[in-house]
This record gives sequence, C-alpha cells and structure tokens, in this order.
Amino acid sequence: MESRVNKNVLSLIEGDITKQDTEAIVNAANKSLRGGGGVDGAIHRAGGPKILEECIKIGGCETGEAVITTGGNLKVKHVIHTVGPIYRDGLHNEPKFLEDAYKNSLKLASSKGIKSIAFPSISTGAYGYPLEEAAGIALKTAITYLKEHTDIELVRFVLFGQKTLEVYERVLKRLTQIAFKCPA
Ligand code: ADP
Repeated sequence: MESRVNKNVLSLIEGDITKQDTEAIVNAANKSLRGGGGVDGAIHRAGGPKILEECIKIGGCETGEAVITTGGNLKVKHVIHTVGPIYRDGLHNEPKFLEDAYKNSLKLASSKGIKSIAFPSISTGAYGYPLEEAAGIALKTAITYLKEHTDIELVRFVLFGQKTLEVYERVLKRLTQIAFKCPA
C-alpha cells in the first residue's frame, strides 16, 4: 500500500528490512548498541562486523535517540540505530519515546541528506508494544514529518509478516481516509 504526502511517498510492504535498497534502514536497537535478537540480530548478521565496530565506538544510545553507522555489507549506505521504549503499561512515556525514536531517526536521515529510508515496526517485538497503538504512532509521526519536510522522498515501513502489514494498512487507512493504490 502506498500513500502520498505532498509529493513524497509513504509505503507499507511485507518483507525483510535487511533486503531493502533504500539509502538507509533503521534498526530497532537496544541501548547498548551491541546487537541483540529480532530485527537487530538480523541486521548485524546480514551487515557484517563493520556495523558493530562503529556501534561499539559510539558506545550506546538512549531511548528515543538515534545514531548512524555504515550499512556494511547491506545494500544500504547507512543504518540508523534507534532505541524504542520497552512497553510496561503505557503510563511511562512509552508513546512519547516511540514517537521520538521515529522522529529522531528521520531528523538524522535529513541531516545526512538521505532521501529514502525504511523502518521496521519499532518496539513491537521483544519490547512488547501493542501493535495497533505502535502502528498509529509510527504512521502519524512519519506523516507529520513528511508534511513538514520535503527532503525525504520515501519512507517505507517493512513489516515482518502479513498480520503486521494488515494492522499497519488498517491504521493508515483510518489515518488518511483516502483511496489507495494497492499493488497487484
Ligand atoms: P523491539 O525490541 O524494538 O521490539 P524486535 O526486533 O523484537 O524489536 O521486533 C520489532 C519488529 O521487527 C517485530 O515486528 C519483528 O517481527 C520485526 N522483525 C524481526 N526481524 C525483522 C526483519 N528481518 N525485517 C523486518 N522486521 C523484522
């Protein structure tokens, strides 16, 4: 599913973030930046040791912040590592931290002249954020950013599994309430 914001594109696909050909992908990292499971593990496995070397030099990343490294052996030039919140009960600033994770990743991408970026569904795996709520925050933050900035031409959400894609699609439809072009 694809939606336009001004002249730029917000797209939702099912797939593997490590296979993307955007200029940058975003990693749902943890504060240590030492790698982990889920999407973090997949990115480091596919990207090779250069990414971890740079992460170790950077030293760490606070929740809601973002840092950037090489893309190593991946097709992308850059990996932006951000740390989403661990979901407790929704009363510990989780929405704000999740919004910050997306916003700061986009800001960092802009500052590096990156024009296309792919995100996974941050915090909705091991960090336990309820999917529908997280999708709302992810999509609202991306739409707002695209409305306010014109430099990033493509924001792609790469969702792992059909069910996750369907939730994001439903939420995006609700948010935009416009007709969509669905790929065949
Ligand atoms: P977090 O710790 O932020 O919750 P996870 O990696 O556990 O991060 O999960 C975040 C999301 O990424 C989940 O929806 C998970 O299914 C998804 N995911 C896992 N591997 C990949 C991958 N290779 N590409 C895209 N998404 C992935």
